Order: sequence, then structure tokens, then C-alpha cells
Amino acid sequence: MSATGTAEKKSTTKSDAVLNMHCYVAGKKVDSNNIFEVKSPYDKRVVGTVALANATHTQQAIDAALSNTKKLTRYERYAILEKARNLLVERKEEFANCISAESGLAIREAIYETGRAHDVLMFAAIESLKDDGQIFSCDISPSGKARKIFTLREPLSLAVCITPFNHPLNQVAHKIAPAIAVGTPVILKPSEKTPLTAIKLVELLYEAGLPHHMLSVLLGPTNEIAEPLVKDPKVDIVSFTGSVAVGKRIAATAGYKKVILELGGNDPIIIMEDADLDTAVYLAAEGSYRNSGQRCTAVKRILVHEKIKDAFIEKFVEKSKTYICGNPSDPKTVVGTVIDEASAIYLESVVKKAVEQGAKVLLGGKRNGALLEPTVIVDVPRNADMVVHESFGPLAPILTFKDIDDAIALSNSTAYGLSSGIVTNNMQYALRFVKELKVGTVNINEVPGYRIESSPFGGIKDSGLGIKEGVIEAMKCFTFVKTFSMPW
Ligand code: NAP
Repeated sequence: MSATGTAEKKSTTKSDAVLNMHCYVAGKKVDSNNIFEVKSPYDKRVVGTVALANATHTQQAIDAALSNTKKLTRYERYAILEKARNLLVERKEEFANCISAESGLAIREAIYETGRAHDVLMFAAIESLKDDGQIFSCDISPSGKARKIFTLREPLSLAVCITPFNHPLNQVAHKIAPAIAVGTPVILKPSEKTPLTAIKLVELLYEAGLPHHMLSVLLGPTNEIAEPLVKDPKVDIVSFTGSVAVGKRIAATAGYKKVILELGGNDPIIIMEDADLDTAVYLAAEGSYRNSGQRCTAVKRILVHEKIKDAFIEKFVEKSKTYICGNPSDPKTVVGTVIDEASAIYLESVVKKAVEQGAKVLLGGKRNGALLEPTVIVDVPRNADMVVHESFGPLAPILTFKDIDDAIALSNSTAYGLSSGIVTNNMQYALRFVKELKVGTVNINEVPGYRIESSPFGGIKDSGLGIKEGVIEAMKCFTFVKTFSMPW
């Protein structure tokens, strides 16, 4: 966020449609004249405002988190998460409307996202009840002794969690819920593009009984909020999800603390010559267009065996026509906007560039403000920006390969390594992809984004440091392991 949050244009909406929200320092509303307006990417109406924080609030939030000495029991943490889950179920529509209004995501995607956040809260509640210790008998080697070593996990003093815009609720839930499950206080810095849903979740957690020192939410100028939080030596961990550029900057400036980086991707779906074509078409379309193509694990490259290229493309174009793009609040809309007009213009430009290099647009490509039609592009050169870098939108670039060696080399040829989807019924192919793709996940006959909220998730290379999230792994990240040993 730049130095001033105050938007230039005044709201043109009815006041009852505008959510007026505040940052919170340990449960206390930030009192500020610096009011940030959040606008709908679809029609640019003001959908909410946020009273922003400043450098003083940043220090107050750190102090508040560290001043408390009372630890929540496992049952107390469970009860808070479970209550929050119930409240979210009751307010599912309210949350979905908020997600859709501020992000431009189709309302059906926003409803789907509330279901994912529900699972995150549920799994975190369940996991909070489980013991996480291990026991090592020490008399197991010639030099052993009659002792046992026990492990236990202790919460970190303070976590800073920084989230992106593309899943305004679920990304935030994936940071906060595992931290609560282990008793680690959090200062949340959500995206300035989608702050309203994040603040609503924070309020819901307070209402569910979360002690206020456990959670603050701050938005404001980067040099007063995000950067000081990242650098502060009192912070034990920075858990960041977002772009490669910001992630690498955080890695360079965080200093001596844990850093979790979940960054961008340009995941392939690889369609082998034996693939069931209908399955391949369905997965490629869902992977490319769901969430307006704005998932870190969206299909960003469709790699098709050259023998089945023509048949695949014909069916894929037909399927793509069913992904109706338009007003996000219309339940019939499948693809809403991308996050803002600037992003849509950028996506348009990478398509244009690829066309200049010899690619052809077979469907879509038209832009209206931040709405960009699902776009099928064929004959995309392997060095096109569109496929070498991350194109965060509903683009479906199709490239061909000649055999499995070529497919693996093409898939591994970019700087990213998040996930992948393979469409094949050939076990030998499946095994080779699992072993040889340089990615965090290989999903056979599924989209790259397939997961459950508690399974390990995260990438390698520029997509991340290989440290996984997902509820269970994230809980480990928010703790340190202490061992103690006793004669036995
Ligand atoms: P972004 O521009 O990197 O922003 C992410 C967050 O970082 C925002 O809260 C942003 O705040 C904050 N930020 C900006 N500059 C910062 C700085 N100097 N220090 C600390 N924080 C700073 O990412 P985005 O555009 O919101 O999100 C899209 C990206 O996220 C895509 O690349 C996508 O692939 C990636 N992503 C990855 C995963 C994964 O799990 N691997 C999941 C989802 C998304 P402001 O909003 O105030 O600028």
C-alpha cells in the first residue's frame, strides 16, 4: 500500500451497501482519519472502507501480543475454532457476498470459498485436540541407555501473517486457524485489495471467544506496517503468501526468524495420448477458469500430446464457451472479473505479445474493464511470456509435446515448481511424472490445485522454499519442538 490510503474518488453507492470497517490492535478498533476505500473491480462502486493503521499501531500490536502470559488450553483453542466454524456456517452468504463484492469473483466461487474456510476451521479444531509429542527409547543401540526422550511443541511468541487477494477468506483462514490451534498470537496483514473479508473473519474470531491479544489486523502504508513487522526481531515467524517478487524481498529483509513463503506458480496440466478426452477437457477448463484463473495452482499451461491435439482443442473450445463471464453477483456467472483493470490489461498484453510470436486466439480475449473472457490460445511458443511467467487470469494457452521426455522437460523448464496435473491411465507414465517433475505436488487425473485443507501444500523453486502449509504442516510451523529426557 502506498503512503496514503485515501482514495481520490468519492463513493457513488448507497451508504447501506458500504461496509465501514477498522483495523484492530488486539481487539481494539483503530481510530484513524486515514480512510481507505475498497472498490468493486466489476463496477468500481465503493463496497467498503477501512480505517487504516500506522507505525504506532504496529508497535502497539506487537507489544499487546507479547504482553500476555495466559496460555489457552487445548480445549479452549478447540472451542474457539469450533464456535468460529459454526458462526461461519450461519453467515456463509454474508461472507460470500463480501468476497464477491471486493474481489470481483463470481458469487458461486465465493460460496465455494466459504466451504473451504469451513474445512480449515474444522480441521484446525480437530488437530488442536491431538497430542503432538513423540517418544524415543534410548536403549536401542550398543551405546544406548535406559532413558526416554520425549518431544513437545510450544507455541511461538508471535507470528506475522501476510496474505494475497486471490482467496480473500481462505488464505487468511489458512494462516490464522493453525496458529490459534497451537496457541501462537498473530498479527495479520491482509491484501489491501481484499481487506473487508479478512477483517470480518477477525471479528468473527473475537466473537467466537478468541482472547484479543491473540490477534490483530493491520493495514496501512507498507513502510509503516508490513515492512516493520517483517523486520522486527521480536517476531518469531513471517508466514507469507503472495508474489515471488514480494516473497523474495521478505526473505532478504526478515533477518533471524522463521520465514514461510508460498509464492506464485505456472502449473501445467499434461495430457497424454492415452487420456480420456472428456476428463482432460473438463480438468483443463476447470483448472484454467475457476476463480477467474486466479489461483496459485490454476492451470497456466495446457500441455497436450501432439497426436491428440486437434481432437482436444475442438472439444476444449466448446467446453470453454460454457464458462460464462460477467456480473459477479449473478448466480449464473461462472467467471467474474480479475482483481482489477490493470491486471486485465496486463493479461491482454501477454496475449497480444504471444500472437505477435505466432500464437492464435481461438476463443475469447475480449476485455471490458476488469472482465476478461476465458481465452483459448493455441500454437503458443515455448518462450512466450504468457507461459514462462505467471499469468494470473482466465487464459488457457495450449502447447504440444512429442513424448513423455519432452513433456517432462517442458513442464520443468520454468522457474516455478508449485503443482501439476496429469491426465493419463498409463501407470508407467504416472510414476515417471511423480518421480521426475520438479514440483511440490503431482495430481494424476486431477487439476493441479486438488488438495484437502489439511494435506501438505506448497511448492519449490520460485514457488516456495519447500516448507509446506495446509493445516497440519502450518501448525508445525507455528511451534518449536522442545525435547526432554528421563531415566526409564
Ligand atoms: P502480492 O502483491 O505479493 O501481495 C501479497 C501481500 O504482500 C499483500 O498483503 C501485500 O500488501 C503484501 N506486501 C506488498 N509489499 C510488501 C512488502 N514490501 N513487505 C511485506 N508485504 C508486502 O501478491 P498478490 O498480488 O496479492 O497475490 C497474488 C500472488 O499470490 C500470485 O503470484 C499467486 O500465485 C500467489 N499465491 C500463492 C499461493 C501459494 O500458496 N503458493 C496461494 C495464493 C496466491 P498490499 O496489498 O498492501 O500491497
